[in-house]
Amino acid sequence: MPKQVVKKSSKKSSKKKYVFFFGGGKADARADMKAIVGGKGANLAEMTLIGLPVPPGFTLSTEVCQIYYERGKKYPSEVKEQVQQCIRKLERITGKRFGDPSKPLLVSVRSGAAASMPGMMDTVLNLGLNSRTVEGMVKLTGNERFTWDAYRRFLQMFGDVVMEVPHHEFEEALDGVKKHAGAKVDTDLSADDLKEVVRIYKEIYFKYTGSQFPENPEEQLWYSINAVFGSWNNPRAIKYRQLYDIKGLLGTAVNVQTMVFGNMGEDSGTGVAFTRNPSNGKNEFYGEYLMNAQGEDVVAGIRTPNPISQLKKVNSDSYNHLLKIRSILEKHYKDMQDLEFTIEKGTLYILQTRAGKRTATAAVKMAVDMVKERLIKKEEAIRRVSPISLDQLLHPMFDEAEEKKATILSSEGLAASPGAATGQVVFSAEDAEARAAMGEKVILCRLETSPEDIGGMAVAQGILTARGGQTSHAAVVARGMGKCCVAGAGDVAIDHKNKRMMAAGKTIQEGDWISLNGSKGILYEGCIPTVEPKMTGPFEVLMKWADSIRKLGIRTNADTPRDAQIAVKLGAEGIGLCRTEHMFFEADRILSFRKLILVAPQVRALRSALEDARTEAEEAKIRHELKVPLTQYEKALESLLPHQRSDFEGIFMALKGLPCTIRTLDPPLHEFLPHDEDGQRELAEALNVSEEKVKNTVESLKEFNPMLGHRGCRLGLTYPEVTEMQVRAIMEAACHVRKRGVKVQPEIMIPLVGTARELEISREQVERVIQKVFQENKMKKSQIPYKIGTMIEVPRAAVTADEVALHADFFSFGTNDLTQMGCGFSRDDAGRFLGEYVRMGIYEYDPFQVLDQAGVGKLVEMACRLGRQVQPKIKLGICGEHGGDPMSIKFCHRIGLTYVSCSPYRVPIARLAAAQAVFQA
Ligand code: ADP
Ligand code: MG
Ligand code: MG
Repeated sequence: MPKQVVKKSSKKSSKKKYVFFFGGGKADARADMKAIVGGKGANLAEMTLIGLPVPPGFTLSTEVCQIYYERGKKYPSEVKEQVQQCIRKLERITGKRFGDPSKPLLVSVRSGAAASMPGMMDTVLNLGLNSRTVEGMVKLTGNERFTWDAYRRFLQMFGDVVMEVPHHEFEEALDGVKKHAGAKVDTDLSADDLKEVVRIYKEIYFKYTGSQFPENPEEQLWYSINAVFGSWNNPRAIKYRQLYDIKGLLGTAVNVQTMVFGNMGEDSGTGVAFTRNPSNGKNEFYGEYLMNAQGEDVVAGIRTPNPISQLKKVNSDSYNHLLKIRSILEKHYKDMQDLEFTIEKGTLYILQTRAGKRTATAAVKMAVDMVKERLIKKEEAIRRVSPISLDQLLHPMFDEAEEKKATILSSEGLAASPGAATGQVVFSAEDAEARAAMGEKVILCRLETSPEDIGGMAVAQGILTARGGQTSHAAVVARGMGKCCVAGAGDVAIDHKNKRMMAAGKTIQEGDWISLNGSKGILYEGCIPTVEPKMTGPFEVLMKWADSIRKLGIRTNADTPRDAQIAVKLGAEGIGLCRTEHMFFEADRILSFRKLILVAPQVRALRSALEDARTEAEEAKIRHELKVPLTQYEKALESLLPHQRSDFEGIFMALKGLPCTIRTLDPPLHEFLPHDEDGQRELAEALNVSEEKVKNTVESLKEFNPMLGHRGCRLGLTYPEVTEMQVRAIMEAACHVRKRGVKVQPEIMIPLVGTARELEISREQVERVIQKVFQENKMKKSQIPYKIGTMIEVPRAAVTADEVALHADFFSFGTNDLTQMGCGFSRDDAGRFLGEYVRMGIYEYDPFQVLDQAGVGKLVEMACRLGRQVQPKIKLGICGEHGGDPMSIKFCHRIGLTYVSCSPYRVPIARLAAAQAVFQA
């Protein structure tokens, strides 16, 4: 211990580094220092080091942000000193000086956290201009118009972004001058017009802030730095972090960088590009640019940008240089990059690079392609694709024939993010959130989107914008979210105020149904039906690689032959949970089952009376009373048997020999009875009994806490004939299918076991039926290798697993109930407070979605250990919702489960997550 103290204090005495310089081919930071200097800063440093043309600058670290908040918005003196030193260094390298009218140094101030976060402060460009330096810039550049344009932009950005002057004030002032000058677009304004704009902007600034616009560049700089750090905790940024589950960051970094100008004339420009197509993954250069433009002009959707391929004709030198950089960046980062560039009078500069956001389709294709190009290894390809994102590839597509028939409202939009979406039109993020909260499917339609719309975009099925290109906010965010998006549908006139839009001569109102094809960029009228997707091409290749690496088996939860078939196609290696209750609900059987339930309590009561009968006469009397209800009871079971049998036959056929875990009846009986008066009357009529009797039975079966009530094996033990019928149906189906030459591996699972004795009795009961069915069908275990096991979902079973395992061939962790009983949260009620619990950090995640490893997970681990002690070969699986959650899957891998089971469409996600778990273990 003392050693460490010494170390710490010695570290303190040597000055702590808060500000990191980059420029002149050298840099203080590296690409792997994102946590300290943010993503933008780390990559600016890295690009400088590998010799790319990056304007020099420096980065204030994320630690400064943390300290800024800790010390009540003040900085340690070292920070001020180090910034000073960096400014001097910048001045040396550029030969310009802050505030020097003859050679003014201008910079941008940019935010940049470790994770990309569009919720934070916008960038301030052209900082350093004031009433003196502006004159110097005119002389230096010989371009009066450009300089005054830069100055008015700076005033506007500083006023809006740093001082929160309402930006419509600036917009209106600009429009006023434009009108007066008869200018259509900004570029029509003359230098004198722009001087007038600057004059008015300064007035606006004074009106709102009560002070003059700061002339001193260092003052301008510190105001801006404070604003960036301040924006770390603005509501937008907080919401963004919540939405994307971004936790554990110190804060944002601030990048101060020498300005380069894309707005110096027609030999200058600015743009963004992706080294590969982020929408479909093709290995083609992809991007957009605008000549004579600055900064955000491209993404803001003010002017429509040109596709990058056109740059070849306009400025072939810069284009070729860009292509070279594209290849350098990909080789260096070994991943698709999203880069920002500016051309100043024919010279190219790179202002940012990062791993590009991409659709799942693109992610999979690029990962597989890059392995083939020997850029990365298979393992890296597997690591790189987010399992959850595969969900996008499994979404339904439009039925082609139906799509052909549909009415096209617009085909001018860009295919910005692939997929198919149908929903009701909404025109604002708030409306989207409000309607989605009521369970409606909506499509968010906007002129263009901005970071404030994030919440609405997150709940929408798809996004349509009338303005903006492939790199517009809507397109980038939609691709990141894996959401279908059609951007820049210029022929759609959106009227936010009146909540309607015009397209193809039709008026679409809020609430009307539309459909979007984000792979083609088409907007349709109405709702187009969808079909199931297929797994082919690179997707299939990646899945095979995952299979060759993973150790966990992947099964599915499926109750029908159709679900089983889908899951097997998606790679399921069996069924991990086949629930049988839905089989009782089908129209042709619910009546029989209800008949059974109506007499069941009576049968049970009389049977127990029979046990207690003391005289023969008494016994005879009870037997007589039992006769009628018992016959009804047995008849009902008899009529249910063939139905269940054919259900299982269908499932076994679909599985073609794969194992199938079937759970015997689990929910309490009253769930099968109608609870409303009409339903009860109908049932009484159908069964020819009095309404009274139905009502009384419902009443008598009512439970205060059904989740902990008469259900699971408790039901099977008290109504053994029901379980016996089910086992008979399963085994007869198995025999029939086996006789047809198809292998069958039934695994009968007893739910809700809490004590070993429950399973012991249940097992005897099940074995008895199996032997009988085998005899009748002349089959034996070697032909139908069955298993009998239990669900571990009651904590008591987990802690006594060494006893329970004596009677079990397998355990399957029913982690829904285990979480419910382990945490003491009612699944139906916990929704009311779990959100807050997660926000307060009491649970890191909703324990019903991500397995609570520290608590419920410990129960699972304990049960595995105890179970293996007595049954080394016991099969261990998990079949709760958690079986499809990547984080929980990693846990299952770590504790050595045999398999996880999840819903059919989660199977590919689980396959990939299980492969990733191998690297992370
Ligand atoms: P964001 O994180 O929103 O992309 P950036 O800080 O990257 O914000 O910058 C916004 C825009 O300003 C980008 O187009 C970027 O290229 C441009 N920009 C930033 N700094 C400079 C600079 N020093 N010179 C020229 N353009 C810049
Ligand atoms: Mg921005
Ligand atoms: Mg940027």
